[in-house]
Amino acid sequence: MRPIPVASAPVTAHSATKKIDEPVAPCGACRQVMVEVEQQSKQPLRVLCQGETGPVMVFDGIESLMPFIFLDKFL
Ligand SMILES: [Zn+2]
Repeated sequence: MRPIPVASAPVTAHSATKKIDEPVAPCGACRQVMVEVEQQSKQPLRVLCQGETGPVMVFDGIESLMPFIFLDKFL
């Protein structure tokens, strides 16, 4: 099966105890998955971060969220 290119990844969170009204950052594990998706797609991944409400932060390319990334060429 041929992989489907992924152009963007939304990141958000929900809390049962409080309202999240600021952008939510992806955890380290999610960032590494985004690196691998970006490598497979051979195009920058646009990451959109938002809480339940409030502003959206946009990052073009995972390297802007995660410098000195671990790449498959190191394997
Ligand atoms: Zn995560």
